[in-house]
Amino acid sequence: MQSRFTRRQLLRLLTAAGLGTPFATRLVSDEADANAPRATKPENIVVPNTARDRYPARFIDGRVIQPERPLSVMHETDVLVVGGGPAGFAAAVAASRAGAKTALVERYGYLGGLWTGGLVLLVYPTHATEKGVLTKVLRGVGDELLGRIARYPDGATRYADNQPDPTTDPEITKLVMDEMIQEAGVKMFFHCWVADVILEGNAVRGVVIESKAGRQAMLAKVVVDASGDGDVFAAAGAEHEQRLHAVGLVHRLGNADRADLVKLRAAGFKNLGETEPLPSVKWVNLRGPSTDGLDIAELSRLEVEHRRSIWKRLEQLRKTSGGEPLFLLQTAPQIGVRITRLLAGMRKMTDPEARSTEPHPDAIAIGGTYGSGRDKPGFAVPYGAMVPKRLDQLIAAGRCLDVDTAMVEDMRLIATCLLTGHAAGAAAALAVKDRCCPRDLDVPKLQALLRNQGAYLR
Ligand SMILES: Cc1cc2nc3c(=O)[nH]c(=O)nc-3n(C[C@H](O)[C@H](O)[C@H](O)COP(=O)(O)OP(=O)(O)OC[C@H]3O[C@@H](n4cnc5c(N)ncnc54)[C@H](O)[C@@H]3O)c2cc1C
Repeated sequence: MQSRFTRRQLLRLLTAAGLGTPFATRLVSDEADANAPRATKPENIVVPNTARDRYPARFIDGRVIQPERPLSVMHETDVLVVGGGPAGFAAAVAASRAGAKTALVERYGYLGGLWTGGLVLLVYPTHATEKGVLTKVLRGVGDELLGRIARYPDGATRYADNQPDPTTDPEITKLVMDEMIQEAGVKMFFHCWVADVILEGNAVRGVVIESKAGRQAMLAKVVVDASGDGDVFAAAGAEHEQRLHAVGLVHRLGNADRADLVKLRAAGFKNLGETEPLPSVKWVNLRGPSTDGLDIAELSRLEVEHRRSIWKRLEQLRKTSGGEPLFLLQTAPQIGVRITRLLAGMRKMTDPEARSTEPHPDAIAIGGTYGSGRDKPGFAVPYGAMVPKRLDQLIAAGRCLDVDTAMVEDMRLIATCLLTGHAAGAAAALAVKDRCCPRDLDVPKLQALLRNQGAYLR
């Protein structure tokens, strides 16, 4: 179809209609507020096609061949963070606040990763017993985030009263994360999937993204892999191991305050969900089978099976006396993959060493304790657990660090991911500033920067 406007003509038209730069903002507020004064909206306008080189894969002699092709560089930055979960969010804010030009790439349209998209709403462990005193170890970026969420009515349980381990509302969490990312000046790219890495010798020079606009490149001086699954370091060929772990699907029950949970428990229903800030809603965790979280056929099967079994259980609950008002508010948009790839780092975080009371000269975070271990001191995360053995210009953060089996469960929790993300972002910014490889970073200097940004390192 013929284009009726060139881009320049379109821009002129929008500007004339008073809709130049704030066009998008204006539309959003119009949609949200029925009483807002409405501008004439130029809608349903044909615009010129975006020119796009095409390099389709070819089917040749029974094999699919991807041709070599040049990629347009759509963004260039100092620090590029891949993944907007707890770790990536904290990394991006910390890097930007430390003075690095920072961008964040996220495959979905919101921040929070499994926390908001997977609906795993309980953030722990935020505290540990340090020198006999219950102490908040989640400080810095993560603490600021939780504090700001807790200021909203129904934003978070407990945190405003200085209690550990809050449960947060997912929508308020997304909102505050958006705000903090914007305030920090991070360039945010939603809706693009990092599909490959760009290497120069042994160093990561950026990533290849896939989006509705096709395949494009982003260049960076340091990349933080906060994809949860180590997508970037795996694509770069960094040494790592892969694990199977439980893959579940969280759901939320509505009308929980109108149901008789005592009666339901007496009738044999054990897992009736965890408290949320809103009394009418409960989030229900699901462990699921231990399986390969990178296998899309397996994940597809589990999506369907988990949803079916959640629905069946809801029907049983509603047929049981006390459960009649319950309804299924939502199943998580994101399936719950706990652990897949773990980096082989410069240094493994082992349980005996991390928890020992000896000094930890290379600690970049102190993780919290919970449950029966709550009365124990926190554990020290060594910087080397985030840095690949050989690959340069990449730092990992979140649930994919180099840890022994005993530390896996602690490393992957949200509060710990906020901590390791914060440290990775600060480290990346420092490496850019000092023009060095992350592996050669001056760790005491990093620790000083982290303390300056509010982190607790003992
Ligand atoms: C079922 C379940 C229950 C849990 N319960 C709790 C709990 O009660 N409390 C607790 O503290 N923790 C809990 N956890 C653990 C915790 O939620 C996660 O380990 C934590 O969110 C990990 O943070 P992360 O930032 O490392 O990764 P993620 O939260 O996984 O975030 C990674 C982000 O990267 C994005 N991404 C991934 N790959 C790409 C790519 N290639 N390109 C672009 N973007 C990409 C993802 O979309 C996502 O936003 C639970 C986990 C599961 C699965």
